[in-house]
Amino acid sequence: MSHLRPGRPLIVPVFLPFQGCPHRCVYCDQEKITSRRAEPVHPSTVTNLLEQAVRSPSFDSSEKHEVAFYGGTFTRLPRAKIQELLEAVSPFLRDGRFHSIRLSTRPDGLDEETLLLLKQLGVWTVELGAQSMDDDVLRLSQRGHCAGDTIRSVRLLREKGFRVGIQLMPGLPGDSEEKFLATVDRVTALLPDMVRLYPTVVIKGTILADWYLKGIYKPWPLVEALEVCCESVVRLERNAIPVIRIGLMSSPSLREFGQVLGGPWHEAFGHMVRSSVYHRRIEPFLPRLGETGRILLRVHPKEVPLMRGFKNSGIRDVELKTGATVQSVLPDTSISPGCIRVETL
Ligand code: SF4
Repeated sequence: MSHLRPGRPLIVPVFLPFQGCPHRCVYCDQEKITSRRAEPVHPSTVTNLLEQAVRSPSFDSSEKHEVAFYGGTFTRLPRAKIQELLEAVSPFLRDGRFHSIRLSTRPDGLDEETLLLLKQLGVWTVELGAQSMDDDVLRLSQRGHCAGDTIRSVRLLREKGFRVGIQLMPGLPGDSEEKFLATVDRVTALLPDMVRLYPTVVIKGTILADWYLKGIYKPWPLVEALEVCCESVVRLERNAIPVIRIGLMSSPSLREFGQVLGGPWHEAFGHMVRSSVYHRRIEPFLPRLGETGRILLRVHPKEVPLMRGFKNSGIRDVELKTGATVQSVLPDTSISPGCIRVETL
């Protein structure tokens, strides 16, 4: 199973495409995003998935693993369905094989009674699909909720002792760089425990695809989405809010040719943003333009891919800024993460 990484807490996803959603949002096709059919999930499916994860040789029972219900509006499922899905996880929580549950839902999909049930049955984290904090963007995107719903839900979740995640979508209809960064600032003020950034892409068969084909909606170019996400990550992480995902996951259905019609879709989107953030951080330590002709860069081993960037674009960026040729990038365990050593040759 691709999500199993030894020595790290796992998040084992259970996808419930469109389950509990009051309508289909204009940009959303959870079947393609998750490569799962939009049909109810039986508790036995949950049990089987978790048994399968536990049986994997790389399952480390000393870690605090989570089960995640994604892809729909979990808290708007019928109460009995919520209960039976969460109860399917209960035996795994009781014997310690899993630590807790997380789920995603809409900002207008919470009430105190449901939260009490979630709490009783092991849910620790609720992720809200806020998407934007600009009411015009939310209206034009036909989300059916406003920024105030997100603010109220975050407060309610905090009051009840949940960890809170916020999912945001730069580039929705009516959005702009300025509006999205204002959204990021408003979200920062709410101090969520984590944020995910999913730049808007045009998926075949959605209302957004129809608007795109009619010229009503213009997606953001890749470069703009990268810049905005880079700035967003810097702002959020400067305030100790981790950004745990950048860009849609690359599911087999989305990878099929012709499924993504437009927008900043790139399989390495997250890596490209992380590399840009890294390059912003190390820029003050680079030689000034024209100062030297050839350099060697020593970086922490884990940060070599960030320095190199996608297809060595990071190296080209350093060469452009310094005017020097980068002879090599060497992993060096004596360098702390976030630092570099530049040797002039
Ligand atoms: S964006 Fe969320 S609420 Fe809207 S259809 Fe998709 S899963 Fe449902």
